[in-house]
Amino acid sequence: MNALAATNRNFRHAARILGLDSKLEKSLLIPFREIKVECTIPKDDGTLVTYVGFRVQHDNARGPMKGGIRYHPEVDPDEVNALAQLMTWKTAVADIPYGGAKGGIGCNPKDLSMSELERLTRVFTQKIHDLIGIHRDVPAPDMGTNAQTMAWILDEYSKFHGHSPAVVTGKPIDLGGSLGREAATGRGVVYATEALLAEHGKSVSDLTFAIQGFGNVGSWAAKLIHERGGKVVAVSDITGAVKNRNGIDIEALIKHKSESGSLRNFQGGDTIDSDELLVHDCDVLIPCALGGVLNRENATDVKAKYIIEGANHPTDPEADEILFKKGVVILPDIYANAGGVTVSYFEWVQNIQGFMWDEEKVNKELQRYMRRAFNDIKMMCKIHDCSLRMGAFTLGVNKVARATLLRGWEA
Ligand code: NAP
Repeated sequence: MNALAATNRNFRHAARILGLDSKLEKSLLIPFREIKVECTIPKDDGTLVTYVGFRVQHDNARGPMKGGIRYHPEVDPDEVNALAQLMTWKTAVADIPYGGAKGGIGCNPKDLSMSELERLTRVFTQKIHDLIGIHRDVPAPDMGTNAQTMAWILDEYSKFHGHSPAVVTGKPIDLGGSLGREAATGRGVVYATEALLAEHGKSVSDLTFAIQGFGNVGSWAAKLIHERGGKVVAVSDITGAVKNRNGIDIEALIKHKSESGSLRNFQGGDTIDSDELLVHDCDVLIPCALGGVLNRENATDVKAKYIIEGANHPTDPEADEILFKKGVVILPDIYANAGGVTVSYFEWVQNIQGFMWDEEKVNKELQRYMRRAFNDIKMMCKIHDCSLRMGAFTLGVNKVARATLLRGWEA
């Protein structure tokens, strides 16, 4: 099932549980705006290449739309649409005053030089600058993009609209980025894990972890789990996976990856097949790479008792059902990876106020938001006797539906 069909299915299930009016339900599914642009740039060798960029603005009932921009060869409009919708529910679950959006360019950033990436980002910004904005739609990094990408967007946008640091989040600190933003999604994943484990009378230091993806989210989650005494027994990136049942030295792995560019040839563990990571023997599995990686082909073989969705939409609905029946507890993406957008919100607030917070305050507030959202989800699970995923969906959808009705929605 593709990402959009899966996201729509979860939304409809939540709408049924909430007893939403059918017209309101239909209207909440339809995106506010879908943008497609052709970005033609000269490559370093002088040849012209065209890349297709998308921005889907899903809903703005609760505030400006918010969501990452992804550079990946498999970016497609349906997936961007699904991810934009997930952002709408996610910002509501986190209780931050935003709607949802998502963007992407179909390209492989690893095949582009820095100057080609800069040209592509600037052309994309030129094409969408009048549709984004501080109180309209605020992009952030996602897979394949980073603080430097946001710096180029900020610079290009500011040429049209004047200096506007709050138009993007996840910026470099020197351009108004927030302390703690780079680590925020991974840190939020760990705060979410701690909240769940505490419910079950456990802590990170008691358990073993397998993490798929060693980029921004995966490496920060691994580092913070390792710091708390949790045993990270397997990690993967696109080039392969490494395991060590005594626990991988995460600091050494981060150093190895930053020096060699991949996890390959790491001496502190044994190499395993990438796909094996998802079914590796561990207590907690944290997918932090692509969508749809847990599906009906591998769900039965998953050994973890807990799955924390660091990535967006890593669990296909069929896998969700299989895992639920197996008794695996899943913390859904719209809660588990909300740390990034939460600190993005703090960054936006700091930019608008012109007042920087220290890192301690950022992390403390993040923990408070993550704990509050967990308690709110638990409350919905209790009221509706449902899974954590439906607890999160009903929480988010209900808030957006209420805001829509209060604004004076009419069918
Ligand atoms: P990233 O920095 O680009 O890292 C992605 C990681 O996934 C990389 O380590 C990559 O390997 C790895 N990967 C890609 N394909 C893989 C495969 N087939 N098997 C194993 N690993 C694979 O991206 P990110 O920002 O961490 O985002 C990861 C996920 O979290 C995405 O689903 C994203 O939407 C979600 N998310 C991110 C944020 C955020 O603030 N960044 C916020 C919320 C949600 P290489 O290192 O070898 O390229």
